[in-house]
Amino acid sequence: MNPYLTLESDLIARMRQFRRDIHAHPELAFKEFRTADKVAEVLETLNLDAIHRGQAVTGIVAVLKGRNPDSRHIGLRADMDALPLCELNHFDHASRHEGKMHACGHDGHTSMLLTAACWLSENRDAFEGTVYFIFQPAEEGEGGARVMVEEEDFFGRFPVEATYGMHNWPGLPQGHFGIHHGPVMAAMDTFALEVKGRGGHGGIPNLANDPIVASAQLVSGFQTIVARNVSPLEQAVVSVTQIHGGDGDNIIPDSVTMSGTVRSFSREVREKVITRMKEVCAGIEVMFGVEVVLDYRPGFPPTINHADNAEICIRAAKKVAGEGAVIVDLPPSMGAEDFAYFILEHPGAYIWIGNGEQSPSLHNPHYDFNDDNLVTGANYWIELVISA
Ligand SMILES: [Zn+2]
Ligand SMILES: [Zn+2]
Repeated sequence: MNPYLTLESDLIARMRQFRRDIHAHPELAFKEFRTADKVAEVLETLNLDAIHRGQAVTGIVAVLKGRNPDSRHIGLRADMDALPLCELNHFDHASRHEGKMHACGHDGHTSMLLTAACWLSENRDAFEGTVYFIFQPAEEGEGGARVMVEEEDFFGRFPVEATYGMHNWPGLPQGHFGIHHGPVMAAMDTFALEVKGRGGHGGIPNLANDPIVASAQLVSGFQTIVARNVSPLEQAVVSVTQIHGGDGDNIIPDSVTMSGTVRSFSREVREKVITRMKEVCAGIEVMFGVEVVLDYRPGFPPTINHADNAEICIRAAKKVAGEGAVIVDLPPSMGAEDFAYFILEHPGAYIWIGNGEQSPSLHNPHYDFNDDNLVTGANYWIELVISA
């Protein structure tokens, strides 16, 4: 055990207030203006080497040099955005912004990283190299991480050798960590499609071309892709989550629209699913004489930890939480994470920090970040910087 900070630390008391203030004022993707101002306000009081604001609109990268600043470069990333969701909690720090909520704990991620920045800036002699504290916008679906790393010469301006991420994990006990040597979070794609038939009278179907029957077959066809085309040893999901068509009991509609999501962990499986979806659509066109227009939208790539960096995380987590509190290679999640962009072509790893076994799930209207993680999480970041 190596506690740099404890529950009794003054800094932790301040950061608990900070976290709750951010929770009470959630902001959506690329609109984290107040949040970014609050983060910058704290950063500006610290002994840092540089603060770069306006990265991918609201993002911030703060730079801190320790001993031998050129000897190594490490990036630590937190996300700042909230979700379009009505909070159902009634505690004092519940959302004051109607229809917006920190239901994924990004308020906590921001606060844990800021806490670590506070401690490290006062203890520059404790570590070697340069640390980049990355506060990114728009993790929830909008891919703020992609926008950030695609900005002019991001990895040139911030030459990180490895980037590390952390997400709270409901169900995992507080004080525990979960880490993977490979896939952690899935690739997330979406699709929309339209089945175009020919509308007509519900009692005279032979004079129409029913897109509803064709759509039913299409959904069934999609369900065979994971079951029959993807190896049973691989993971994938194809979910049709919306289907809309028709206006009356006696009317065959002209067309049906549907949409859904595809999750996978490898490029090969992802390509296989896309190919089969196109083939199923083409087959339905021939079978029913309809036209199927498929709009497949690739989203976040899978988050796949680099094994060497995962080992570094495991060592740091064990030092902070104890040997028995670090669980290695849990089943990965079918959720997605845009942190993937930071480690797509560069090394790094992403760790789960327990939010408590009783915690409501992520994206649940009763969720709240576990403030005890301000200590556990900040100590982990600090240990990672010192020992990585
Ligand atoms: Zn989320
Ligand atoms: Zn999240």
